[in-house]
Amino acid sequence: MVDCIFCKIINNEIPSRKVYEDNDIVAFLDLTQVTPGHTLVVPKKHVADVFEIDEDLAATIGSKIPKIATAIKKSNPAIKGMNIVNNNGTVAYQSVFHSHIHILPRYDEQDDFS
Ligand code: ADP
Repeated sequence: MVDCIFCKIINNEIPSRKVYEDNDIVAFLDLTQVTPGHTLVVPKKHVADVFEIDEDLAATIGSKIPKIATAIKKSNPAIKGMNIVNNNGTVAYQSVFHSHIHILPRYDEQDDFS
């Protein structure tokens, strides 16, 4: 889609730090890095939010999350857990309207990220 920042990343029109890619999805580091290793998992098909995702695409995305999360965890022994989050709609703090899942590594119970 024209003017979609994540479509531009998918099409290699703007740079990103990709950590995984296949025919259906791409995963790249979030610009903001709420926690170190903060990664976005994004379907290559442009869908704005969960309300536009059909069962097949949901199954495709969902099937990739465990292996991407596991690879991120294995990349850094300091990672103790993860939040996996998907925002839908402005009221839910979605700011990029190409659906994506945040993977947020967590490091210990006392970290400052909430
Ligand atoms: P929020 O901004 O509240 O996290 P979203 O759930 O829509 O809302 O997340 C969009 C995410 O996309 C943000 O974490 C933001 O840092 C990230 N982002 C925006 N532009 C880029 C980019 N060019 N490369 C990587 N991440 C990006």
